[in-house]
Amino acid sequence: MRIDIITLLPKLLEGPFAASICRRAQDKGLVEVHIHDLRSYGLGDSRHLDDYAFGGGAGMVLRPEPVAACIDQLRSERTYDEVIYTSPDGRRFDQSQANELSLKRNIMILCGHYKGVDQRIRDRFITREISIGDYVLSGGELAAAVLSDALIRLVPGVLNDESSALTDSFQDGLLAPPVYTRPAEWEGMQVPEVLRSGDPKAIEAWRDQQAIERTRVRRPDLLDQ
Ligand code: SAH
Repeated sequence: MRIDIITLLPKLLEGPFAASICRRAQDKGLVEVHIHDLRSYGLGDSRHLDDYAFGGGAGMVLRPEPVAACIDQLRSERTYDEVIYTSPDGRRFDQSQANELSLKRNIMILCGHYKGVDQRIRDRFITREISIGDYVLSGGELAAAVLSDALIRLVPGVLNDESSALTDSFQDGLLAPPVYTRPAEWEGMQVPEVLRSGDPKAIEAWRDQQAIERTRVRRPDLLDQ
């Protein structure tokens, strides 16, 4: 999988891909992440990127020309399965979208800024608009990092034990059950006996029951679906 991220603030994306699973996925050659600085497509000597909104009102808008130049440059190099715009008015991101997107080969993500990008860019290039939740961020970079992380860990070979991703929350429509590790007793609190029983059937049944109970209490909406 290859992910190209277009941003005004490449610095904000240095951290998320520099460590842990996202780093290892790149080191193993399973995923490529390329960050593109929109500024280098800016207009004129000052590399201008934004302008006032037609119709007035507070806040600047990303001009279409630099964004289009960057997208066109990338599209001339390869075909993209998805050109995603991060936006609070997009479809709310969830595990089923992550699963679907993790099967794609080339994904481009455009990070918005200010009041957002000129609508004509969205009309012309964007195949999918994604929100990471009902709140407003200052820019799309953190959203792009969230999306990328969720996809990258699903790419086959990225996690050491692939079955791990399958037992996480949402994969089966339920929240994950509680987890415990050593010591078996800590400050008077015991790990549930069944988890130490060595009986795989009993353990699975306990985990299923805990997952359903946790979902019923915390996220009954998931059970309705
Ligand atoms: N005026 C816009 C918000 C702009 S915030 C509105 O009210 O809908 C600036 C940029 O941050 C957006 O263009 C988008 O790329 C990003 N952003 C903000 N909140 C986001 C969210 N919840 N999900 C994804 N991207 C978001």
